[in-house]
Amino acid sequence: MTDGNLIKRTYVSTARKDAWTLEVRKKVSYQRRRKDTHRIKNAASPYTGFIRCGKCGNSFCGQKSTLKDVTKVNYLRCRTRISECPSNAIQESTLNALVCDVLGLEEYDEAAMDKAMDYCEIADNAVSFYFRDGHFEKRSYEEKKRGTP
Ligand SMILES: [Zn+2]
Repeated sequence: MTDGNLIKRTYVSTARKDAWTLEVRKKVSYQRRRKDTHRIKNAASPYTGFIRCGKCGNSFCGQKSTLKDVTKVNYLRCRTRISECPSNAIQESTLNALVCDVLGLEEYDEAAMDKAMDYCEIADNAVSFYFRDGHFEKRSYEEKKRGTP
C-alpha cells in the first residue's frame, strides 16, 4: 500500500512537469510569433463594466494595441462585432480626460469616478456620463485616425 502510493505520486509529479514545460514552450513560441506583428490582447481596464454602447446596448471591452510606430494605445470598444456595430470605440486616455473634465479632477481617479458615476454610454463620438445622483453630462470627443499626423 505504501509502496503503491509512492509510485503513484512519482508518476503524477513527472506528468505535471512535462505538461508545464509543453505549455511554457507553446506560450513562448506564440509570443515570439506575435511580437513584431500587430498585437492585440484583451486587458482588464478600470472601465470594465462601466461603459455601455449607445448604439446596440452591449458593454465595452478593453483592447491593447501596439501601432506600427510602436505607440501603445488602449482602446475601449463595443463587444459586438465591428460589422454589426461599426466605429464605436474610444481610446482609454481620451476617456480618462473626459472623466477628469466632468468631475473637475486634475488627474484621473478611478475611485472618484466609481463614487460619482453609475455608468457611461458611448455613441457617435460622444460620451454621456450618468451620475449616481440622477443627472447626466454629455461630452463629445474627436480622435485622430491612425496614420494622421
Ligand atoms: Zn455596440
